[in-house]
Amino acid sequence: MAEDWTAFYKQNGLTSVINVSGTMTSLGASIAVPDAVAAVADIMPRFVRMHELQARAGEVITEATGAEAGFITASASAGITLAAAGTMTGVDPAKAEQLPDVTGMRAQVVVQAGHLCHYGAPVDQSIRLAGATVVPVGQSTQVLDHQLAGAIGEQTAAAVYVVSHHVVEYGQIPLPDFVDICRGRGVPVIVDAASEYDLTGFLAVGADMVIYSAHKFLGGPTAGIVAGSRDLVRAAYLQNMGIGRGMKVGKESIFGAMAALRAWGRRDHAAIRAQERAALDLWQRALAGRPGVRATLNPDPTGNPLDRLRVDVDPAVAGASALAIAAALADGDPSVIVRDHEIEQGWFQMDPCNLQPGQADMVAAALGVVLDRAGNLPEPDPRAWRNGGIGAYLTYAAG
Ligand SMILES: *Cc1c(COP(=O)(O)O)cnc(C)c1O
Repeated sequence: MAEDWTAFYKQNGLTSVINVSGTMTSLGASIAVPDAVAAVADIMPRFVRMHELQARAGEVITEATGAEAGFITASASAGITLAAAGTMTGVDPAKAEQLPDVTGMRAQVVVQAGHLCHYGAPVDQSIRLAGATVVPVGQSTQVLDHQLAGAIGEQTAAAVYVVSHHVVEYGQIPLPDFVDICRGRGVPVIVDAASEYDLTGFLAVGADMVIYSAHKFLGGPTAGIVAGSRDLVRAAYLQNMGIGRGMKVGKESIFGAMAALRAWGRRDHAAIRAQERAALDLWQRALAGRPGVRATLNPDPTGNPLDRLRVDVDPAVAGASALAIAAALADGDPSVIVRDHEIEQGWFQMDPCNLQPGQADMVAAALGVVLDRAGNLPEPDPRAWRNGGIGAYLTYAAG
């Protein structure tokens, strides 16, 4: 990375950010891989037949996932909406134009209660946006087979299964059993695997459509990937003439996502894992011996092949809470953003997957600077912090 990597930020009136949080929409998702960047630049000044480009994308998706067919959407979130819509309309253009009015269509979508998470927006809203009604199954911490079977009826159009660190980690029906119950009743299963590395496994166990983000681990431009059985993918694609228009995907995102998918197949995963591990080791060493701070390796909860550093803070010994430390790191220059989903429990995580060269050292240094001041850090109001994400939307462009 160039000596003054902060020049870009200064020139553009932006805060210099180091992302140890993960592939966060709020931080610009991921570092696009060079192939994707080149592909975007290559196609921007050209005209193409968009259906033809999507057909080429379908070939790349088929190759990568083993699906019969696929296409690129504006985002995984859009992919969920279009996939759900397709299960209601089939390949009937009149029905696609009728949405979100679902009169005369089966329009219920069943989802396990523990899967009704928030990934930056509510997953149920991405389904309701198609006009569907979401039918929650079971309770947040326990869903049983008979409850799923009982929730499926004449009006059921689809079932959505969410694979994510955001969902309840226990008590849910595993995907193979979920597929078994839905298949037996003729209900297609849509898997939201937006943030998963596994491009083949969910289809292999019988999911009908699987949705990925192109801008997360794949390092593509902002886009989503829909992969699945030919009929359902065609029905989902049809929505681009209807409700999908407001979620339009551009040629650059399609072509860039294709390049990212191809590059994924050639990526030296072992070398990248070793780099990530070196960053984790460095930070663990930087935290060793700090009173009240315990840093341990934490494997990814959904089985993606990556570890994060879990940092537990005992405020009575450390002199500051996990929240105070995270806030001080975020307030620094550069701003270091940690993964704070569980911060109210006294710990945060550090994700090594989105670092530019040299940034792992800067993060280690920032940890040192903040912890040296641990006794004097301002203690943020947990309530204000908790609601701060919404606050940023409300105050945007307030002047
Ligand atoms: C990130 C994420 C999404 C949304 O993906 P986008 O491509 O950003 O729309 C949906 N579901 C889950 C589980 C996610 O992690």
